[in-house]
Amino acid sequence: MEWIDIHAHLNMLEEGVEAAINNAKAVGVKKIITIGTQPEDHPIVLDIARKYYPEVYCTLGVHPHDGGTYTEAAGKFIEEHVTEPCVVAVGEIGLDYYYDNSPRELQKGSLPRTARNRPPNQNAGGNSHPRCGRRHHRDFKRIQR
Ligand SMILES: [Zn+2]
Repeated sequence: MEWIDIHAHLNMLEEGVEAAINNAKAVGVKKIITIGTQPEDHPIVLDIARKYYPEVYCTLGVHPHDGGTYTEAAGKFIEEHVTEPCVVAVGEIGLDYYYDNSPRELQKGSLPRTARNRPPNQNAGGNSHPRCGRRHHRDFKRIQR
């Protein structure tokens, strides 16, 4: 059986990117999507995806918990790179009114124009606002077999 890990944080693992990918391959994982959660990790996850593409892809987005970190520059970075083959979605994004770790107005503002206007999006967790949660894990670009 072949597996695709659709939500990994390769940049956050103690074992390191290379070891994580090798461990995943050893148990049958063929593709990994590593998720961007805030502006400072966007260049990092993008570099990882570029380096290991087409086995690794990434998303670029600002997690609702990090809504306060969103800037226009971050939105511009997402829009400039979302068309690259290794970038498969805008995410994590969404509205998290359960934990409210970030003020709701900042969460709303952290949705880049790209994500507001069109899919693909990857929304954050099961606690997302219902209007966003419905699209959870569904709107990815097609990835190579
Ligand atoms: Zn995540």
